[in-house]
Amino acid sequence: MLNHYPRFHEGASTGLVHKIGGLPWGLPAHLWPLCADCERPMSHLGQFPTHSTELDAPALPHAPDEVLFLFKCEWDSGCFFWEHSEGSNQVLSVPRKELGDAPTHPPTIDAQENGEELKVLPELGVTRWIVQEDGVPADVEDDFYDYGRHSELPRDIAHPQGWADQFNTKFGGVPYWTPNGAQGQPDLPPGRLLLQIDSWVIMDDESLSDEVANFCSDGIAYIFIDCSQSPPVFSMIINR
Ligand SMILES: [Zn+2]
Repeated sequence: MLNHYPRFHEGASTGLVHKIGGLPWGLPAHLWPLCADCERPMSHLGQFPTHSTELDAPALPHAPDEVLFLFKCEWDSGCFFWEHSEGSNQVLSVPRKELGDAPTHPPTIDAQENGEELKVLPELGVTRWIVQEDGVPADVEDDFYDYGRHSELPRDIAHPQGWADQFNTKFGGVPYWTPNGAQGQPDLPPGRLLLQIDSWVIMDDESLSDEVANFCSDGIAYIFIDCSQSPPVFSMIINR
């Protein structure tokens, strides 16, 4: 199947570019999500236009003119941010026409009593995309969403690209599962993989990597889209 593997550099251009961390560009302030558990603002995890004129950038399947924003709870509150049903992470897809023209700052909070401040994650912009087939036949795609069937696939099919770190952050294709496989946390959300982000991403020169966020130390975040619902429903899990 076809995949788009990004490479990153520290910092990002202004505007609606592909990036991890930093501040979301133009997100209406009232849409900044709060964690359903600790009730504090979540940290911005990434911003990805559904379509872009950047060379080789992926076109996401659900809307021609929206921007995807990812958030997760980064407070040291014991929130279950790895589960899709706990409200401690969130995926928003917002039409461009509803976005402003400046970075959005997080809501002010009353949490400074312990010297705590909302964690702004390191900003990493996409410098280029590697577009590559990974050898997974389309007729086994469904097996990647079933714990039993996935574990029975031949090893080179079940773990595409040799399980190499350089390919664990990507758009499209099937989920490249961590050693725990397709069981999810505690179950898989509906739909299919839209993108996945490793806890460390590969920088432009391939020899360096930068840490993204707290993904349970070495997990991968998987973002799903369920296009059987209208509008599509997004979910995020983090698996180790
Ligand atoms: Zn929380």
